[in-house]
Amino acid sequence: MIDHRRLGRELDLFDSDPLAGAGLPLWLPAGAAARHAVEEYVRDLERRAGYRHVVTPPLGKRELFETSGHLGYFADDMFPPMRLSADDEFVLRPALCPHHALVFRARGRSYRDLPLRIAELGGMYRAERSGVLGGLARVRAISLNDSHNFCALEQVGEEVRDILRLIGQAHAALGVRPAGFRLSLRAPGERYVGDDAQWARAEALLRAALDGVEYTEAPGEAAFYGPKIDIQIRDAAGRESTISTVQLDFDKPERFDLSYTDSGGARRRPVMVHRSLVGSMERLFAYLIEVHEGAFPAWCAPVQLVLLPVDDGQAGAADAVAAEALAAGLRVEVDRAGSLGARIRDAARGRVPYVGVVGRREAAAGQLSLRLRDGRVLDPRPVPDALGLIGGVVAARSHALLP
Ligand SMILES: [Zn+2]
Repeated sequence: MIDHRRLGRELDLFDSDPLAGAGLPLWLPAGAAARHAVEEYVRDLERRAGYRHVVTPPLGKRELFETSGHLGYFADDMFPPMRLSADDEFVLRPALCPHHALVFRARGRSYRDLPLRIAELGGMYRAERSGVLGGLARVRAISLNDSHNFCALEQVGEEVRDILRLIGQAHAALGVRPAGFRLSLRAPGERYVGDDAQWARAEALLRAALDGVEYTEAPGEAAFYGPKIDIQIRDAAGRESTISTVQLDFDKPERFDLSYTDSGGARRRPVMVHRSLVGSMERLFAYLIEVHEGAFPAWCAPVQLVLLPVDDGQAGAADAVAAEALAAGLRVEVDRAGSLGARIRDAARGRVPYVGVVGRREAAAGQLSLRLRDGRVLDPRPVPDALGLIGGVVAARSHALLP
């Protein structure tokens, strides 16, 4: 069975060390390169959809999380507070919403600012028990693709539908195949904030946004502050988890006393829509490593092109092609150690999408002969054409290796 932990080790994507602590993975250069490609893609997608990115710290004063309700309703999942002095305690945040509520409140807001989409790929922490931790799928330090979209009540329906469309776009680029949509609701006997009318209104808005989508209902899976739409994935072992989510929250705007001025000059409370397009980088990569069996689409592959000089005589020519590829924005390496056959096998083991062989003939003619990850071999072509072919596939975020 495919296991992202084994593949992650084989492909040098990430590691862990008991000295650092369980559930606190170390992203190695190859894993970090792939992750940065995904992060840049997601930020760009959000920017084009009208999101504004912020940067906020992964910890804050205890009072911040008392105000947000996290210490009242969610403390069991959090690391205990850190005391600096008798009246100065800090908490590692379990979510980004409290800081984003402060960003909203930092300036006067008018109806013209709404929807205001405050996005961040930020760190947060959960005190998971050591028994449930495994590779990247369940961790204690989480890097979440997050956003809080502050809307007028009448904007919520369209905003949620826009978010669902954006989620579909991100899934297509990454190769995420959802196992299903879930409407996560309250269950009796558990602790929630907000009154019944708020919950009923939020639930009705989410049901309307799901019109035409097939989904199941999951009582007891709601957040403590509101119902949500969860998009589920299934790992290679058949375990289900949430990758994308859209949540409605009437409570935090109350707790943080958020308001905007409407067109008539009156103060109104915004609705807070929490959403994640692709979840945390950790869970996303646990899934992507398995679903692609380590063979990432070229646009997010750790190394996109490996150049193999046939012998030492072509080393200079290979370096020159590498410099050109690097300047064109590709992630490229030159491999000179060992026989050509062994180096081709190494590149195949590393799931590198393109291998460029530079022999005497190619070096003299300024050409490159490309071997694709799936075994196809292309006729030698001028270096700019070969790099242009790879660049085109990368720019299109295609899952095929040829345009
Ligand atoms: Zn949130």
